[in-house]
Amino acid sequence: MAGVTSSEPLQNFNVFQDWINKNYHGEMNYLLAERSMTRRADPKQILPECKSILVLAIPYAPVSDGRVGGADKNQHNLKENKPPYRDNELQIASYALGDDYHDVLPQKLKAIVDFIEEQLGEKIPNRYYTDSGPILERELAQRAGLGWIGKNSMLINPKAGSTFFLAEILLGIELEPDESFSTDHCGTCNRCITACPTNCILPDRTLDSSRCISYLTIEHKNEIAENLREQMGNWIFGCDICQQVCPWNRFAQPADSAFESKIPLPVLTSDLLLDPVAFNQRFKKSPIKRTKRRGYARNIAIAIGNNKNKKDVPLLEQAMQDDEPLIQTHAKWAIDKINNE
Ligand code: SF4
Ligand code: SF4
Repeated sequence: MAGVTSSEPLQNFNVFQDWINKNYHGEMNYLLAERSMTRRADPKQILPECKSILVLAIPYAPVSDGRVGGADKNQHNLKENKPPYRDNELQIASYALGDDYHDVLPQKLKAIVDFIEEQLGEKIPNRYYTDSGPILERELAQRAGLGWIGKNSMLINPKAGSTFFLAEILLGIELEPDESFSTDHCGTCNRCITACPTNCILPDRTLDSSRCISYLTIEHKNEIAENLREQMGNWIFGCDICQQVCPWNRFAQPADSAFESKIPLPVLTSDLLLDPVAFNQRFKKSPIKRTKRRGYARNIAIAIGNNKNKKDVPLLEQAMQDDEPLIQTHAKWAIDKINNE
């Protein structure tokens, strides 16, 4: 899907500013830089020649197909994010099952710019981003007619749900803008708010990232607060719960081929003991490499502790011998949790 919007400043920048002021950004302090703030407020601060913005939505694997342990909503207690999980299977957010979008999408965006330049017969000022730039992509997508921002903070399209990456191309040419998406189709539904295990969905359609499992398992680099570990269930990279319960995701589109699952599934608790070489080999092309091995093993130790399966204690005891203190402390926590059952 694609839509076009103008280069006008963002109308709801105040929502972002308020979110920052309330410290809902956790440790993502790069968001605070003055340059990043001014650029987020006004696309022309990024590209002064910008006249139009092309916004794209590229689908990743649907979230509600029950493919990984725990995604089976009939068995899994979504709200409490508690067992029964399917034995030793662990969960990874759908968007992370395929190739790393940071590697794949820029090439596709560049190909679009090349195509436009070829058609026009001249170079045009441009800049493109996908989740990587100082840009409020969901508001731009709404303005480009691609959907509304749901209560779970995701951009939702009535014909495709929310399981897609957003990408933006700022262009120094005039394109006719699409009509902004002005209706809200969440209505009285509150399923995402009710299902979120950490209650981090805020009333203004933003999240308290510092408590969101997606943030904790990926962006948060150090120890995870003990009072949040239990609520993480068996999610080891990201969390799909607020998308799994969203009724609009029954319209999710099949994944672009780059984002079909490439990692061997199911992911098992034995991944706790991946050594650096094996970790790098397995996740070389995957966004999972962003957690680094220490973050990945930390998350798995927490999931094992939550699963409370005594069969996993020997794995945890081996992880206690790891050189990385972060892995040791979380493995110790998990052993205590299993033994205190
Ligand atoms: S990703 Fe998970 S923890 Fe974060 S808001 Fe959605 S349900 Fe809550
Ligand atoms: S679950 Fe319901 S309230 Fe939440 S985003 Fe989807 S439609 Fe909106």
